[in-house]
Amino acid sequence: MSVYQYGTTQITWRFKLDETLKHHYITIDNNEVVLLQGADINENHQRLLISKKAFWIKKQLKRHANQVKANVIKTGSRILYSGRYYYCDVIYDQSVVQPTITFNHSKFTITSNIGLTIDEASFTKIINQFYVDKCKNKLISRIRYWQKQTGLTANAISFKLSKNKWGYCKSNNELIINPRCLRLSPATVDYIIVHELCHTVEKLHNDDFWQLVDTHFPERKKQEDILKENFD
Ligand SMILES: [Zn+2]
Repeated sequence: MSVYQYGTTQITWRFKLDETLKHHYITIDNNEVVLLQGADINENHQRLLISKKAFWIKKQLKRHANQVKANVIKTGSRILYSGRYYYCDVIYDQSVVQPTITFNHSKFTITSNIGLTIDEASFTKIINQFYVDKCKNKLISRIRYWQKQTGLTANAISFKLSKNKWGYCKSNNELIINPRCLRLSPATVDYIIVHELCHTVEKLHNDDFWQLVDTHFPERKKQEDILKENFD
């Protein structure tokens, strides 16, 4: 297989002779193999055709990798945080007792003792711990802000990871917020908070409730759609 270096990306391709083709075509199969097909040409000519399409090939390979391996995190993967995808570095370190994750300078770093790829189940544990650690700092001030803004008050605030709820309001008006909401944009998090604060007045999703939500958060429908799309 031949290799073309495009920036930091190595594009390897296979040539498939097909004299019936009028032009040369580049395709990328499910195993991320770049295939150049067409009439017989030498390697330099092949390289030229690959170089002309290098940007497109790079984009396709990346898109493919993201689709196929969305459940595996490795260096170069993107992690959703605060409504944006951030680059992630995975560092292998045998000496750490359990994987750690940090975020700074707009980049995640996972230091792991389980190798350079992190499977979905391990990653969920790692990222959930990150959200749990962040949520007090990030969410309490926001909840206070919205309490002031709306005049609605929760009796208590707590955080609990959940697979099927972004938040809820208990009968004693204690708000429970799912730390995983930190994946979403600040506007969406604000909506979750306002929604639950409105439940301190009305527990049911009835007309009165939605009217109250709309008073305090006119962008409700847009945020509801985002929440539906992002449910995991
Ligand atoms: Zn509700």
